[in-house]
Amino acid sequence: MRCLLFACLLLGSFPSFALDRFQVEGYTLRNGLQLLLKPGTDRGHVAIRLVVGVGLDDFGCEEKELPHLLEHLLFSGIDASGEGGLEERMQALGGEWNAFTSNADTTFVIEAPAKNQRKVLDLLLALLTQTRFDDNAINAAKQVVEREDGGHYSHLQRWLDRQDLGHTASNQLAVELGLKCPERAQVDDLTHEQLEQVRKDWYAPNNMTLIVVGDLDKLLPAYLERAYGALEAINPGEHPPLPQIQTSAAHERTLTHGLVGNGAKLHWLVPEPVLEDGHDQTFDLLKDYLDWAIYRQMRLAHGLSYGPWAEREVFGGVGFMSLNADLERDDVSEAEQVLEDLKADLLRDGLNADTFNRLKQAAIARQAWAVQGNSALADYYWSAIGDYEDGRFTNPARELQGVTLQEANKAMRELLLQPGYLRIEKPLLSYDQLMWLVVAVAGLLVLSLGAWRFHRAG
Ligand SMILES: [Zn+2]
Repeated sequence: MRCLLFACLLLGSFPSFALDRFQVEGYTLRNGLQLLLKPGTDRGHVAIRLVVGVGLDDFGCEEKELPHLLEHLLFSGIDASGEGGLEERMQALGGEWNAFTSNADTTFVIEAPAKNQRKVLDLLLALLTQTRFDDNAINAAKQVVEREDGGHYSHLQRWLDRQDLGHTASNQLAVELGLKCPERAQVDDLTHEQLEQVRKDWYAPNNMTLIVVGDLDKLLPAYLERAYGALEAINPGEHPPLPQIQTSAAHERTLTHGLVGNGAKLHWLVPEPVLEDGHDQTFDLLKDYLDWAIYRQMRLAHGLSYGPWAEREVFGGVGFMSLNADLERDDVSEAEQVLEDLKADLLRDGLNADTFNRLKQAAIARQAWAVQGNSALADYYWSAIGDYEDGRFTNPARELQGVTLQEANKAMRELLLQPGYLRIEKPLLSYDQLMWLVVAVAGLLVLSLGAWRFHRAG
């Protein structure tokens, strides 16, 4: 009877509980595993995300690929049936899985039928605890990782990277400032021992968060306590500090990309000053504003660029804002002037209040439909784990609402008063230059042939 009453209460409260996407039941098992459980609106399905707190940022340049390689190896198999047998088990449960290694974490992503949720979680647990891999598996995984990174790292590509020719503008700047490794990380030299060490140091329940969203099984909490609660806690490794700007970089550079073409790209990149309050919301709104401002100037007013854009990126411990435009090669200096004028106007007049408010309301409105369905909700919790506190995620709409025009203006001035870094990407030669080069070479040939004949005749 009590159970029935409880079930009625749970079902009764279900719609409002499910609708408030920021309210999530979260608790920590005795071994330190953090759980986030959220009934979703879609029936018959669960989205599972197991987030392990180890990513590329935790390793130096030589060992950067260790967590990524380990992520692949964890799918090697849990018994004699190997990788194929493991996949067949997941197929039999009607689920799908994948994994991703980012700068900050390694995450196992699963979509599964609700009725098999405990069996799927059992399989994930077996993958974590029972996977054994040998040198053959390591070599196979190395090839896959290498292919994912764009194929074999050839001598030519390595040479181009060393000559600063292989990177895109923002990556190139990050390398120059000491925020990013100059060469692509290699997998060849990584050893079995190193991989086992990463697993031992970081794959511990007190370094993991398990997110389950969807049609939750009533027995799920008890199951998780029993099955996942048996994992043994360890002292997880220390995250090394993120790199900060180490060296200076040229204010202006031209980067050669490709051999021949009439296109060019202009990038103005600038580190974001760190704000005490509301850093991300303020710069997100500022990005929307600059995106619109550069579109109005570069495309609508001057017709220089089809799709100019503003962007936010993070390298190491530093966030960058950039203004970018794809251009015709001959228009680069005019575009530079338009960009300078745009910055000068903003610094003189400040942000336009109507435009700021309109874009702010649009950003707030977007929050109402930005996250739809169990899987998107699970991904959202994964991306926002750092904001989770006392059973709630922060509501981005409320945070955006809190950014005032004055604060945005202050951040804009601090941002645009910096000289920043100007980078022009263009191919080595334009088609005209190539044509003149061909003409000149042909002319030289004719001349030398003439000279040779003249010499023989004489
Ligand atoms: Zn991969």
